[in-house]
Amino acid sequence: MPASNEREEWQRALDGDRAAMDALLRRHERSVYLFGLRMCGDEEAAREVLQNTLLTAFEKLASFRGDAKLSTWLFTLARSHCSRLHRRTRSAPLHDVSLDVPLSAPVIPDEDQNQEAEASHAQMARLVGTAISLLPEGQREAVVLKDVQDLSLEEAAGVAELELQAFKSRLHRAREQLKVNLATLLQEQPASTGITACPELQSALHASRNAGVDRAVCTAIEEHLKICERCRELMGPLQDAAALCRRLPGGAVPEEVQRAVRTALANAVGK
Ligand SMILES: [Zn+2]
Repeated sequence: MPASNEREEWQRALDGDRAAMDALLRRHERSVYLFGLRMCGDEEAAREVLQNTLLTAFEKLASFRGDAKLSTWLFTLARSHCSRLHRRTRSAPLHDVSLDVPLSAPVIPDEDQNQEAEASHAQMARLVGTAISLLPEGQREAVVLKDVQDLSLEEAAGVAELELQAFKSRLHRAREQLKVNLATLLQEQPASTGITACPELQSALHASRNAGVDRAVCTAIEEHLKICERCRELMGPLQDAAALCRRLPGGAVPEEVQRAVRTALANAVGK
């Protein structure tokens, strides 16, 4: 909807038109929820942030000047509720970031699109979602605002409370790191070093195939690579993959990361 129409609608809402207000907030509900999910933790946190954001929007209705886009204003409110929530739960363990949400709006498949393409699209979206969740918080916010929520550079910089140039640099670093994360998650190529790992790593591979990859497995690999001369040559890809576990916000290790660790291990062991 053009900004001018939205402003009229906002004016009607200010004048007490309940239906106009509902329509306004409903339109932005989903993007605020997704923002909360990416930036604040799990679905419970995202729901709380959405609820508080809508409440504040009602309370501060009159202070919204209408010279900014409503969505930008709502993200600014959501952002402050998110950091308040983080402060409150700082001593608690970090929330699990839900990784199975589409990157942006849900894709409505064409009639003639086959199921295989849909499945691979969903898989790709999940992979990108995981790669985003592995970014440090500031970089994650930059990518979420600009590339997921599709704000303009100026709007995104405003929400992130950064000068335009500083925001651009952060976004640039974030996109570079995102490529690295994706490459690590997607690695399939066997290592060409010709060196094979020691028995300890071989048993780690065995365990990861039987019981899955959890944080303990990743930590064990990282610790082993620090002390084992023989495996040090193989450090690059395997260390990158194992380090992904540590950079995840918390909870279970998502399948994409598990697969990257298993593949890197298998390549290191040479099987
Ligand atoms: Zn070793």
